[in-house]
Amino acid sequence: MEKHEGFMKALKCRECGREYPLAATHVCEFDFGPLEVAYDYDRIKKSLTRALIQSRPQTMWRYRELLPIAHEPTVGTQVGFTPLVKADRLAKRLGIRELWIKNDTVNYPTLSFKDRVVSVALSRARELGFKIVACASTGNLANSVAANAAAAGLKAYVFIPSDLEQSKIVNSQVYGAQVIGIKGHYDEVNRLCAEIAGKFGWAFVNVNMRPYYAEGSKSMGFEIIEQLGWHVPQHTVVCMASGSLLTKIYKSYQEMMKLGLAPETKFHVHGAQATGCSPITTAQKAGLDFFKPVKPNTIAKSLAIGTPADGFYALRAMKETASNSDDVTDDEIREGIKLLAECEGIFAETAGGVTVGVAKKLIASGRIPANASAVLCITGNGLKTLDAVVGHVGRLREIRPNLREFETLLHTETEATPTH
Ligand SMILES: *Cc1c(COP(=O)(O)O)cnc(C)c1O
Repeated sequence: MEKHEGFMKALKCRECGREYPLAATHVCEFDFGPLEVAYDYDRIKKSLTRALIQSRPQTMWRYRELLPIAHEPTVGTQVGFTPLVKADRLAKRLGIRELWIKNDTVNYPTLSFKDRVVSVALSRARELGFKIVACASTGNLANSVAANAAAAGLKAYVFIPSDLEQSKIVNSQVYGAQVIGIKGHYDEVNRLCAEIAGKFGWAFVNVNMRPYYAEGSKSMGFEIIEQLGWHVPQHTVVCMASGSLLTKIYKSYQEMMKLGLAPETKFHVHGAQATGCSPITTAQKAGLDFFKPVKPNTIAKSLAIGTPADGFYALRAMKETASNSDDVTDDEIREGIKLLAECEGIFAETAGGVTVGVAKKLIASGRIPANASAVLCITGNGLKTLDAVVGHVGRLREIRPNLREFETLLHTETEATPTH
């Protein structure tokens, strides 16, 4: 009897197209190309309709036919369907007609878009019979694996660069995960994890489970389309670490159009990085198909991957959609964080500052036209990277608890900044 694998057909090499069983494996044995989940789109097209999607709970799992699990999800069943906020005040500041914020700072349960990929990877890991899960992380992935594994009763090992933000470390340890700090950059952490995964046979969400994990990012794109009234946005700005999220948003837009759930249209997916770790945007701006690895040095630690696993495919997605990219300095990242907070009341982490800062540059230079509509993907919460903005948001004015001192303070304030 054939094993029931939902709407998945096989794992397929992105380079040579060779097919593999739907196991915990991620590279082609012949050309070392990355494996990707292939679906039976004809069957999906027959069963998945807008009405069916809308009849389901407001989570990322309402698109489950397009996510790589065979049965019902068992981990992270409440993840996703975060708000898409119309950002009129920020639009005005950036000089664009219409702007939307896809707000994954409030994703459940660990306040970043990584809950999407982790709920898929862990649900699939359970289907494949794993009891121990693990990851190599720049911070948010560690938080999400630790939390979701705890809730699912799975044992978790998370490996991180030991110089991560304190809050990201604590946010992993609190769930009882085994947190191991590696004295080195993310790329060294990742190399070590590839060896550990081979030797110990655990489900490493972004190593041997990567084909499933990566698909979870598509849910952000599906939600954007549905929340825009079943339209693919003209312009989307996405920050990049490994480049996976950008490639999957691109894929999600294509899938929705292919299935007739959104009308065919041209679209752009623009990439954003920090100047201190910009292998992908540097290559894109130079018109190259390949990136050169770098040593990261930026406050945007969640994006600090010097050898991005999906960099090549992110470059290809941008090329195929005639998109652009750019990068921003640490100061511009902080400015982006403040701009978003002051205009829209949304406090993003450094990665969000990268997205806003790059969007500003793309609009100012006309690479995103002023009369266009754009979506900014804001992927993580500012409370997790407080260190990056401490000392940059003004000083705390202190007074004794009496009215006169407050009035004096207010008086000096109004003299300095007239209010009208
Ligand atoms: C991981 C991460 C990203 C992007 O990751 P990719 O590896 O490019 O998919 C973006 N923002 C935040 C906050 C992240 O943690």
